[in-house]
Amino acid sequence: MSESTSAKGLVLVVEDERAISDLLRMYLSREGYGVHVATTGPDGLSYARTLHPIAMVLDVGLPGIDGTEVCRQLRAEGNWVPILFCTARDDEVDRIIGLELGADDYITKPFSPREVVARVKSVVRRAQHAADAPGPLSLGPVQLDPVTRRVLVDGKPMMLTATEFDLLAHLMDNPGRVYSRDQLLSEVWGYAAVVGTRTVDVHVAQVRSKLGDHDIIRTVRGVGYSAEASP
Ligand code: CA
Repeated sequence: MSESTSAKGLVLVVEDERAISDLLRMYLSREGYGVHVATTGPDGLSYARTLHPIAMVLDVGLPGIDGTEVCRQLRAEGNWVPILFCTARDDEVDRIIGLELGADDYITKPFSPREVVARVKSVVRRAQHAADAPGPLSLGPVQLDPVTRRVLVDGKPMMLTATEFDLLAHLMDNPGRVYSRDQLLSEVWGYAAVVGTRTVDVHVAQVRSKLGDHDIIRTVRGVGYSAEASP
């Protein structure tokens, strides 16, 4: 559980498999991040609270408390540190999404450390670029303020994860414009579309289910998605 600090900020890796945490530490350090490794759920939770990391790489299967519970507790406390989930199985992805935990991204094992680094950079970049985002956006019943990261739907506040927020903001920034899944991956997630476009679909589905009757996203079959006042 050694710790290294860096100007780029600290990434908290919560992973009980030594081989994986060693690899992540090496690759993330090489990119200039400080890295702190916790090996149990309770440790992960307490370091997330005390070290104020700029991002977390969070394994799902952990001793003590599992990763989904760690995330749930942090969100319940109002801690919105960007979280990249690592899962051992594909079906855990559905569980993570189904629980609406407020994960920012997920990656399935076995993964390449390079890809984890790319994802970490991406969640950090998105969280940090919020400050120089465009002015408030309004479309139909949805109002979104990229500076405060607040969303109002029909006048009522709505909670979105960082990724969901960025996705909706991107669509709302150009109402009516249709974005392909690949475009959204590179423009919102910030990495090339090597991960497949299912990520886009699941996040769009999450935003839509939160918007409910006030859904402003239109599916353009065979093309992608757009935001429209009356889709
Ligand atoms: Ca594990």
